Amino acid sequence: MTKILVIEDEKLVRENIIDLLAAEDFDTIAAANGRIGLDLALSQTPDLILCDLMMPEVDGYGVLTRLREKPVTASIPFIFLTAKSARTDFRQGMDLGADDYLTKPFTRTELLNAIASRLTKQASLAKQVSTKFDVQTFSPKQQMIEMFLRRAIEREEFEQFLVYYQPIVDIHSGRIIGAESLLRWQHPELGMVTPTELIPLAESTGLILPISDWVLKNVCQQMKLWHNQGFTDLRIAVNISANQLKQPNFTEKILHLLLVNNLVPDCLVLELTENIIMPDINQAISTMNEIHSYGVKIAIDDFGAGYTSLIYLKQLPIHTLKIDRYFIQCIANDVQKAIITTALIQMAHNLNLHIVAEGVETEQELAFLRQHKCDAIQGFFFSHALPAAEFEKILVAKKRLNMSTV
Ligand code: C2E
Ligand code: MG
Ligand code: MG
Repeated sequence: MTKILVIEDEKLVRENIIDLLAAEDFDTIAAANGRIGLDLALSQTPDLILCDLMMPEVDGYGVLTRLREKPVTASIPFIFLTAKSARTDFRQGMDLGADDYLTKPFTRTELLNAIASRLTKQASLAKQVSTKFDVQTFSPKQQMIEMFLRRAIEREEFEQFLVYYQPIVDIHSGRIIGAESLLRWQHPELGMVTPTELIPLAESTGLILPISDWVLKNVCQQMKLWHNQGFTDLRIAVNISANQLKQPNFTEKILHLLLVNNLVPDCLVLELTENIIMPDINQAISTMNEIHSYGVKIAIDDFGAGYTSLIYLKQLPIHTLKIDRYFIQCIANDVQKAIITTALIQMAHNLNLHIVAEGVETEQELAFLRQHKCDAIQGFFFSHALPAAEFEKILVAKKRLNMSTV
């Protein structure tokens, strides 16, 4: 519904305009003077403002000047309503950035036409800006990926998608304790599309939801097969996107998948990055608490790369912290990374959290983490992410971390 703010000090005129607009199904807000009008414009960001020129305290020129200074209100269409019909008054209003100028008394039709014309212009302007923005932000390659992605989802060609599994290994026993599921898209024409190309695009186009549902379903089915083969302790982590977490039926979806696959909830780990949690922290905490209450584990992914306030860490129902790869890379030769990582491990243990180092590539990195009592590692040093069948082979072969590294 289009929201119109009417700033007019004469009660009768104000009420007449409000009645007229309400009859046309506009959502209306009324202000009896310029000061109240400014407050309402800022707090309610209406779609259009009708404002009287002559008012005590802050007059119409003052209102318009202040609105144009603030980014949130700068582009709201603004129409002056006034009894002053001198050309100079009109010019002054237009020079300040008014969009139109109606001289009292005006007819109902004149008012509605002026409103309609401003709203139409604003809508086409918004469209132009967003089209321009799309072209600038999506490169030709991204546009092509989006086109193929849309097509694949519409035709339900999920056979093009694959879930790879990267082992997570206990640093002390050397045993595989779980894996992180990582999405791969093998397109017949584009080749292998990496998640870093695919996920942000899928997020911004809303295509992430059907893909994520497919990943979750696939992972639960696969995990059940492995549990049935005797790997009953295996925990699989799934990366969760911002849009997924916002779904009102997210918890039910997860519970349904666990139920139909006859899985215990604590074998599923949901990986959330700080950047997904923080923008709507209260909503995130409430969803996380709900999921956690059923026994599903939650991990904070890429920890240290985002902006989690440490105060919240205590309030979040989390099981695992995954230290971002950045801190691990060359940790043995970088004093600052070493100090931060050591502190993170200690903090996690004090908070009773399991701590996993991501992106471990070298023996030196592993030795450092082992020495500082990190719980588990994930990275190319032990294994890349593997197709399910390959991961199964290393499970069956009981591949272990080399324990000679101290
Ligand atoms: P992530 O969740 O932090 O996953 C770890 C990424 O680090 C993976 O990249 C993995 O292949 C890579 N990696 C693991 N070990 C090493 C190492 O030793 N060195 C280096 N240089 N890299 C290592 P990948 O598979 O390209 O995934 C990138 C990101 O895409 C993931 O980061 C995750 O945020 C996202 N992603 C992947 N699959 C999914 C999914 O199914 N859903 C959602 N929402 N996001 C996903
Ligand atoms: Mg992850
Ligand atoms: Mg990560």
